[in-house]
Amino acid sequence: MIETMLTDPSLVRRADADRVPEEGGTSVVNPSTGEVLARVPVIGADGVRAAVDAAEDALGPWSRRTAHERAEVLRRWNTLILENRDDLARTLTAEQGKPLREALGEITYAASFVAWYAEEALRTYGEVIPTYDRDRRMVVVREPVGVCAAITPWNFPSAMVTRKAAPALAAGCTVVAKPAPGTPLSALALAELALRAGLPSGALSVVTGDAETIGLALTSDPRVRKLSFTGSTAVGRILMRQASATLQRLSLELGGNAPFLVLDDADVDAAVLGCVESKFRNSGQTCVCANRIIVQRPVAERFQAGLVAAVERLRVGDGFEAGVDQGPLIDEAAARKVERHIGDAVAGGAVVLTGGRRHRLGGTFFEPTVITGVTSDMAVAREETFGPVAPILVVDDDEEAVRLANDTASGLAAYVYTRDVGRVWRTVERLDVGMVGVNTGLLSSAFAPFGGRKESGMGREGARAGIEEYLETKYVAFAGLDPVEGGQDGHAQTTGR
Ligand code: ADP
Repeated sequence: MIETMLTDPSLVRRADADRVPEEGGTSVVNPSTGEVLARVPVIGADGVRAAVDAAEDALGPWSRRTAHERAEVLRRWNTLILENRDDLARTLTAEQGKPLREALGEITYAASFVAWYAEEALRTYGEVIPTYDRDRRMVVVREPVGVCAAITPWNFPSAMVTRKAAPALAAGCTVVAKPAPGTPLSALALAELALRAGLPSGALSVVTGDAETIGLALTSDPRVRKLSFTGSTAVGRILMRQASATLQRLSLELGGNAPFLVLDDADVDAAVLGCVESKFRNSGQTCVCANRIIVQRPVAERFQAGLVAAVERLRVGDGFEAGVDQGPLIDEAAARKVERHIGDAVAGGAVVLTGGRRHRLGGTFFEPTVITGVTSDMAVAREETFGPVAPILVVDDDEEAVRLANDTASGLAAYVYTRDVGRVWRTVERLDVGMVGVNTGLLSSAFAPFGGRKESGMGREGARAGIEEYLETKYVAFAGLDPVEGGQDGHAQTTGR
């Protein structure tokens, strides 16, 4: 069990000791070894209602605290996350499989949202609008949305929780979070640390169990005023449909199909490095990872050779082993999808330059793969592979590169490598996406607005935009200020006073 790995086992003990009956609960399994790490409760619709009750009870007291008081709790939460970084990273690697080095990076990244929103809590300014009537004043105040639901995925089990919960709590909202069934321990540990930081009980609950049951219970409860979801476009559609019943506000961070453009004047070595970072981080299981590598013909051969050499240096193995760059895929279905995409591409004439198969370690370990001769009609280009496969499409000019880049229903991230500032701007302005990396393969930061267009969803997380998602706008009109000049509502404008 996972507790033996941790300095502070009580961080995750709550997950399998408090509420799981002897025989009940769902097992959390290490994807690297198949070992059962813990069991978590299966919370049904009644349990979700109880969590919403608790969030509703906590809402008044929490939202009435001053922003400074809320910021103080978030600052303590940030400190506790960083103090427990090793335990949180070990928990993450154990349940998700990513290399420990990446897991440590994710915990720092997760904490950065808490630190940032502790600061942003203090800047949820309202507005005073210059009046059109001496008798009247016009003021805008910002208020918390209310009880919020957060549904998070397994690829970033810690950072996706804080990316939603920190701005919500900073704004004065309370949260019921549903982590992915495979990776609930990170969320439970973070919630435990939030409690230790002084967050009132009920202000952040984690519910584990059947996704559909919990999703339906959260979207059909009129007390839940907002849902923030990160996951697949298919589930995003379901939740949007369900949320229409209660007209919950929505933030949806859905799938991507990021184009990675290498133009013919690019620094090819830098492009190779950026491509490896973007494509193979988390075994290719990120929604912003390069999914289609679009390279101009004059540099295609050099780029391909460089990429193959770099990819062949990646070490596959258990995330706890030193020097490992790539862990297993999350589950068997993920590995099958990767196999299907490679098989479909090869059947259509693509060539595997390196990798292409399950890794000799077995299970869901997969060889880092590069394929070339890919065309835009292949599954590997049309769908999000979510695995360690770099498919290369060779093109002739900027026009074709941009046309292919936009030829998808997704619009999350894109990358472009070129040294010509004119080409940078011409390309960036035509890419129909929410985020562009220019000469970099890494975009994510707590200080930047993360989100997409088209079927990649709506809303932004991180930066100042991230807290806006959890704030309502209330306009207040004050009249009757001027006893001499005072007029009727609206008269001032029409009479010109
Ligand atoms: P992925 O394909 O990356 O697993 P999903 O969209 O299936 O993405 O999962 C993302 C999150 O959405 C997870 O927490 C998952 O449990 C949850 N989820 C899946 N289906 C539903 C549903 N019908 N209602 C609510 N949540 C769901």
